[in-house]
Amino acid sequence: QAKVAGKSCYRFFSRAMNEAVERRVHLENELRGAWDRGELRLVYQPVYRLADHRLVGAEALLRWRHHEQGVIAPSVFIDVAEQSGLIETIGPQVMRAACGDAKRWQRARGEDPPLFVSVNVSPRQLRSGDLAKMVEASLRDAGLSPEQLHIELTETAVITDEAHASQLLTRLRALGVKVWLDDFGTGFSGLSHLRRVPVDGVKIDRSFVADVLRDPDDLALTTAIIAMAHSLGITVVAEGVEKEGQYALLRERRCDLAQGYWLGHPLELDEFMALAAEAVAA
Ligand code: C2E
Ligand code: MG
Ligand code: MG
Ligand code: MG
Repeated sequence: QAKVAGKSCYRFFSRAMNEAVERRVHLENELRGAWDRGELRLVYQPVYRLADHRLVGAEALLRWRHHEQGVIAPSVFIDVAEQSGLIETIGPQVMRAACGDAKRWQRARGEDPPLFVSVNVSPRQLRSGDLAKMVEASLRDAGLSPEQLHIELTETAVITDEAHASQLLTRLRALGVKVWLDDFGTGFSGLSHLRRVPVDGVKIDRSFVADVLRDPDDLALTTAIIAMAHSLGITVVAEGVEKEGQYALLRERRCDLAQGYWLGHPLELDEFMALAAEAVAA
C-alpha cells in the first residue's frame, strides 16, 4: 500500500517538476526574442529629495508584456535571464535605452537641473567582464553625462566577490558614474563593508522601510545605516515608501532620497516626462 502511494507520489512530483522545468525553458525561449518583438520596455519610478521634496531622478524598471501571458514581473523573468545568460544581451539593451531616455528628458528640461536615471545591473553582468566598457559606450552613444547615470548593484552581488567588485566599481566611478548598493541591509554584509567597497550610495531595502513605524528594530537599523553612511559621505535612499508617516520619519532621520508608491508609481516614459516638466514649472 505504502509502496504504491510512494510510487504515485513520486510520479506526481516528477511530473510537477518536469512541468516547472518546461515552463522555465519555454519562458527562456520566449524571452530570447522579447526585446526585438517590442515586448520589453522600461518604466520609470520617480525619486525625490526628502529635504525639499524635489524630483531628482528616476529608477528604470523593466517590464515584459508577453503576447499571451500579459505582464510578467521582473522577479520572475530577471531570474530566468540571469540563469540562462540572456541578461548579457538584455542588460546592455536596458542600459542603452535608459541612457537614451534620460537624454530625452534632459533635453526637454533645458537649463533646469538634470534628473538622473538609475539602472539595475545584475550579478551576472558584474562578472561578465566588460561592464565598464558597455556603460561607457551607452553614455557616449546617448550623449549623456556620466553624472546623470546611477548604477544599482545588489549588496550580495558585491560581497560575494569583493575584490573584483571593488575594482569594477572603481572603474565605473572613474567614468563619473554613481554606484549605489541596492536592497541594502538584506545581505547581512554588515555596515563595515561600506568602508571597503567604493560606493556613492545605499538603497535601504523596502522590507525595513515597511516596518519603520511599528518595529523598533527596523527603525534602529535604518537610523544606524543613515548615520554610518553619512559619516562615510554616502547618500542614503529609502525604497518602498508607501505611507506619509514613513516619509516624515525618514525625513526627520535625515535620509537623503526616497521612492515608493506614496511618492509615485513607476511611469511610462511619456508620463515621467510630463512629471519632469511639471516639476520644472513648480
Ligand atoms: P529593485 O531594484 O529593488 O526595484 C524596486 C522594486 O520595488 C520595483 O519592483 C518597484 O516597482 C517596487 N516598488 C517601488 N515602490 C514600491 C512600494 O512603495 N511598495 C512596494 N511593495 N514595491 C515598490 P519591480 O519593478 O517589480 O522590480 C523588481 C526587481 O527586479 C528590482 O528590484 C530589480 O532587482 C529587478 N529589476 C527590475 N528591472 C531590472 C533591470 O532592468 N535589470 C535588472 N538586472 N534587474 C531589474
Ligand atoms: Mg533597484
Ligand atoms: Mg531594491
Ligand atoms: Mg521587521
